[in-house]
Amino acid sequence: MRARLARWESDVVEAPVMAIGAGAETGVAIRFAGGAVERFDVACSAMGVDVRLPGVAGPDVTADGRVVTGAGQETSVPALYAVGDVVTGLNQIGVAMAQGEAAAVAAHTRLRRAEGLAAG
Ligand SMILES: Cc1cc2nc3c(=O)[nH]c(=O)nc-3n(C[C@H](O)[C@H](O)[C@H](O)COP(=O)(O)OP(=O)(O)OC[C@H]3O[C@@H](n4cnc5c(N)ncnc54)[C@H](O)[C@@H]3O)c2cc1C
Repeated sequence: MRARLARWESDVVEAPVMAIGAGAETGVAIRFAGGAVERFDVACSAMGVDVRLPGVAGPDVTADGRVVTGAGQETSVPALYAVGDVVTGLNQIGVAMAQGEAAAVAAHTRLRRAEGLAAG
């Protein structure tokens, strides 16, 4: 994203925003932490996600630290499932909910099989 913004000659400010107001005539005025006020014709805010897995050892992760999952959201650790922003893919509520449903079905099926109540 930073590379694309650079191509568009857009300024990128990575600092906490303390206040947003109307510009003097057009655009927006933003006060950043530290007190500096800057004016922009157009401003877009964006937030990223840093995945942290403190104390969780085992599951394969990508270079950016996201958990790799396969069918039924199972990780490389058998019977350990992962869903949502912590896994690879789109960070959206609907995606996380669908992944949760898939993980629940997979865990349920695993338990039924272990009890001899389902084939497989
Ligand atoms: C500003 C913003 C706007 C967004 N707008 C949209 C939108 O309009 N539509 C959309 O679909 N998606 C949107 N998203 C993305 C969406 O919020 C996420 O994709 C979704 O919430 C992911 O669900 P999750 O369960 O993986 O994580 P989360 O919803 O972040 O839930 C993780 C939970 O785990 C808790 N937690 C973290 N660490 C620990 C710990 N060590 N111990 C115990 N609990 C812990 C956190 O407090 C949190 O409650 C937005 C995200 C942001 C940041």
